[in-house]
Amino acid sequence: MQVRFLPSAFIPAWSNGHVDRAELHLLGTGMPWFVVLRCGEMRFTLGLSGWTTNDWTRSAALDLMAPLAVPEEREIQQIADLLHRQRSCSLLQLQPVIGDPARLGACLTHLAGTGQIVHDLASDRYRWRQVISRALGEAEKGPDHPELIASRQILRERAVRKLAASDQGKSGMLLSATVEGQDCEVLLNRDGQLRRAKCDCSWFRRGALRQGPCRHILATRMAYQQERDGLTHAVWTLR
Ligand SMILES: [Zn+2]
Repeated sequence: MQVRFLPSAFIPAWSNGHVDRAELHLLGTGMPWFVVLRCGEMRFTLGLSGWTTNDWTRSAALDLMAPLAVPEEREIQQIADLLHRQRSCSLLQLQPVIGDPARLGACLTHLAGTGQIVHDLASDRYRWRQVISRALGEAEKGPDHPELIASRQILRERAVRKLAASDQGKSGMLLSATVEGQDCEVLLNRDGQLRRAKCDCSWFRRGALRQGPCRHILATRMAYQQERDGLTHAVWTLR
């Protein structure tokens, strides 16, 4: 995420001198963006998707940009207990509980998705904030995104071909593959988050990453993670 501090000329006149600082938080092309106004002890955060027909949960499929890790129930509970006790924690404070950043991220995504925590952008902390008094179950959360379901089928059919990975140093890992005849490229950062991708398919041509990654991009990423973790044979045989 890029953070820009806006010059004072951008601070609205109606703020009447109460706004100390305005920040613009950019996630990337086609992604949501946020404005944070700091007014003494108060923080005002406004998030905008930039797409009138795009919601942030289902159609934008933002959770598919996060590392594709599956945390254990025990790990989710540990993070929930700590946040419940402390009320809020930074990512640094949560890291000793689960060392693997991908699994920690998956725990936090799960807790946010089930209405138990929020991420406070202005302070960059995770807060215990129960929207509902009990965590939503998988059934109540609704089915997985259709492109994610389709990508699992692609993996089962072993339709990811010519998979190659090239280490880009600080930028992360650049993957390329041909999936169901479509040429894909995926850039993952060092934490496994999807930073950039492209594909030849009609889904990607229609909206790039604005509708979430397509099945080919997701399958490329999963195939790479399976190979890296040495799970290729086991997973493909079991399925
Ligand atoms: Zn595609």
